[in-house]
Amino acid sequence: MQTRNEPTFRESVNLMFDKAVGLMDISEGVANKIKVCNSTYTVRFGVKLRGDVHTFTGYRSVHSEHKEPVKGGIRFATSVNQDEVEALAALMTYKCALVEAPFGGSKGGLHIDPTAWEPDEIEKITRRFAYELIKRDLINPSQNVPAPDMGTGEREMAWIADQYRRMNTTDINADACVTGKPLNKGGIVGRVEATGRGVQYALQEFFRHADDVATAGLSGTLKGKRIIVQGLGNVGYHAAKFLSEEDGAIITAVIERDGAIINEDGLNIDALGTYIRENGGVNGFNGGTFTESGAGVLENDCDILIPAAMEGVINLTNAAYIKANLIIEAANGPVTAGADEILNAAGTIIIPDMYANAGGVTVSYFEWVKNLSHIRFGRMQRRQQESSNHLLIDELERLVGKPVSEDFKTKFFQGAGELELVRSGLEDTMRTAYQQMHDTWRSRDDIDSLRTAAYVLALTKVAESYRALGI
Ligand code: GLU
Repeated sequence: MQTRNEPTFRESVNLMFDKAVGLMDISEGVANKIKVCNSTYTVRFGVKLRGDVHTFTGYRSVHSEHKEPVKGGIRFATSVNQDEVEALAALMTYKCALVEAPFGGSKGGLHIDPTAWEPDEIEKITRRFAYELIKRDLINPSQNVPAPDMGTGEREMAWIADQYRRMNTTDINADACVTGKPLNKGGIVGRVEATGRGVQYALQEFFRHADDVATAGLSGTLKGKRIIVQGLGNVGYHAAKFLSEEDGAIITAVIERDGAIINEDGLNIDALGTYIRENGGVNGFNGGTFTESGAGVLENDCDILIPAAMEGVINLTNAAYIKANLIIEAANGPVTAGADEILNAAGTIIIPDMYANAGGVTVSYFEWVKNLSHIRFGRMQRRQQESSNHLLIDELERLVGKPVSEDFKTKFFQGAGELELVRSGLEDTMRTAYQQMHDTWRSRDDIDSLRTAAYVLALTKVAESYRALGI
């Protein structure tokens, strides 16, 4: 619950923006131009369902067009409103700038409870919403490219792409009008897991920086770190799965809508994910202890807290009680501006949303490039790489007169396919951006957090882009 003194999500983003701008050599005019949302289109449309016409309200907000197309997901949720969509669009601008995805920022949302409608009804609603946006070029491969967000996924993206194709029958680049599509509809391998994978790469990179680890009051690596995850949706699930299965971290609690499930020895995330899909919540899962007080578990003792669901879950009411040494914002805006101040003062390290969840848009960028180039990554070079690796090992074995181990050969021979290339590109993006944030944070005493460092970096890049345009 947020208090009445809490700013709105949009105001919260602006407060963080203002804090960074105050430390930068940037004119007030340019700062203001970057800050404002260029446009927000509201659509109210009717769809005949269950014998009557139902009216839905949707938005597509374009925050900054310093680069085009603009990019950002479409959310289906009852929380959707203009303030939220504009805050999310602004975050997309900063996020894309930070990780050098060549897009401006945008976001869309439909005010709907997706669980209240059958799949064929959701399809009708999605297609109608898409129609309204497409006819105004608010979905377009060269102008505005949506993606999944809360309440939407591959299925909705496939309907949107199909709707675009029906309305633009001769556009050879139609597939690039939206990302996050299913693989057989122009998607890319690794997009579904991308945001969670990005969170994993972000944490791995954090633990490569001993000074940052020490500042957080931690030591060592991810192995054995106790993690609480709030929200086991697509992002939270993949992050928790990879961190526990591949890095040896222990997921001690998962908070969901109906409460939280706790197991100090570590939850089995695969089993829990399946249980939630089948039962709609965590209550009754036999791999841990259930408590109804989900919000209370945010305040439990842990090394790392991963808020991976909604904005504003860490706010003025609970910030002072958070015990995690490190918070990584897998969701957009989970820590309000006021909570951010409290946590900073208490020495809690926060890896900010605009960086932490940028894995999604990074792989969206790869998907968009794949769609425009009309060829799968790795298709041309994989076998060529494989045969030159064979040549090298044959020659090495001949020279040393000893065989190389079979295990090494199997790994080494394999040329990189699309998944390996996507993961490599994503890892490089996450590592590079973290290093830049780290250097900026450590370069000046008045840059007091990774978030402020991220804003300074992102805003510098956007401002440079405006300057080059002569604005
Ligand atoms: N909705 C995701 C985000 O908030 C992905 C956006 C995209 O891929 O365009 O970053």
